[in-house]
Amino acid sequence: MSISSETRKRLWARSGNRCALCRLELVRDDQGSEPGALIGQEAHITARNPGGPRYEPVPVDVRDGYANLVLLCANDHVQVDAQPERYTVERLRALKREHETWVRDRLRPKTPAHAEATRVVPLRSGDAVWNVMSGAHAYQTGAPGSLPDDVADLVDDALQVFVDCGEISEDITAGGLRAVRDAKRAIQAELDALASADLTVLGGRRRGEIAPGFTGDIAIVHVVTTDEFRTLTSPPESDAPVQ
Ligand SMILES: [Zn+2]
Repeated sequence: MSISSETRKRLWARSGNRCALCRLELVRDDQGSEPGALIGQEAHITARNPGGPRYEPVPVDVRDGYANLVLLCANDHVQVDAQPERYTVERLRALKREHETWVRDRLRPKTPAHAEATRVVPLRSGDAVWNVMSGAHAYQTGAPGSLPDDVADLVDDALQVFVDCGEISEDITAGGLRAVRDAKRAIQAELDALASADLTVLGGRRRGEIAPGFTGDIAIVHVVTTDEFRTLTSPPESDAPVQ
């Protein structure tokens, strides 16, 4: 097995075409008659082969799966593989996560000063999340700042599933009721996982400027800890305004 093209696209897209370590741009423009170059490499966090850096015996689909890859420039790929003690599995995962969050934050739609306050409500079912995400033009996600690694991974995965469902919601809907039901079920599974980690999802929709001159629907989903949720909802309201 090799890395699927879907996994590749996902990795490049979420990395914003930049190295997760040094943030160098990975697609070089053409220079006159010289063609540009791709200097990005899909690096394995846990090596593909025994004896390779950070090798652990994992199933082949996991090895070439999204979670085991990090997008790096050629130089950093060499360095990371030459220094597995410095660039441990945990460190690489954390670097990847921080980088993807950095990309997401930069691409987040700017909120116009006059934007009306948005009311977000707890989203407790696959149905509720689906209704917020489907057909939106942009997505705004949020997560608690300091979480243990495994919980942060859980939150990242859940938000990604929510956004993915939103981004391909037209395709899913075109696939029929069953496809929509499957999507809602996938969302529900993420909600259950979050709930088991004592996390709640708040969400809503608002109109806002997505690009200059283009106003659209922005789907908002914020994962909050149960403590934050209590603070936000302390009396008398059962839902809370965000920004
Ligand atoms: Zn780099």
